[in-house]
Amino acid sequence: MSFTQLGLSDAIVRAITDHGYTTPTPIQAQAVPAVLAGGDLLAGAQTGTGKTAGFTLPMLHRLSTNAVGAAQTNKTSQRVIRALVLTPTRELAAQVEESVRTYGKYLNLNSAVIFGGVGINPQIKMLKHGVDILVATPGRLLDHHQQGTINLNQVEILVLDEADRMLDMGFIHDIKKVLAILPPKRQNLLFSATFSDDIKVLADRLLNNPAMIEV
Ligand code: AMP
Repeated sequence: MSFTQLGLSDAIVRAITDHGYTTPTPIQAQAVPAVLAGGDLLAGAQTGTGKTAGFTLPMLHRLSTNAVGAAQTNKTSQRVIRALVLTPTRELAAQVEESVRTYGKYLNLNSAVIFGGVGINPQIKMLKHGVDILVATPGRLLDHHQQGTINLNQVEILVLDEADRMLDMGFIHDIKKVLAILPPKRQNLLFSATFSDDIKVLADRLLNNPAMIEV
């Protein structure tokens, strides 16, 4: 099984090949077609399985090829956030955004990362530049929303990465607040290493008839 056979575009396969990957990992082999199909996804995957590319690659494919792709050809000032990835920590947020850049290097999509513990003004400036894909930790994302420095009205894809860790860290209220400000019609992807009752409740609330995969 190759990345091309999974349905990914040449521009994405070229970036993956440049990066040295030849074969999809098991989570990628399952997640990529499921996400490309457009539905919601519940994925059980530990760190180290290649889960980041598992959601990043099909997300990039959908954003760069689907009919709503007007943002691609617009001036940068007209870009809108179409994909939002929430992570529990700033380290993971930075890592995920780095992957988005790496795999999306031949695509005309802008990404940005925002997290707490650093100044908010450079992030405001970055957001003003025009962002298609935003990776964020929940608290700082809500800070931006409260300050009116972010527009989440056009989000089409939401990813909760390491959802179990987000709940362990007490982010459930923040996550609920974020869900409440997103447009209701969107594709939702939930990745978690473990499935506690709390995760099941969140998954029930968030996901519509999800594809389920576990590695
Ligand atoms: P992750 O589980 O997303 O944190 O990824 C774990 C590690 O696997 C990272 O260092 C990735 O760069 C690497 N990786 C992800 N997908 C592949 C692949 N298809 N082939 C080889 N390495 C990969």
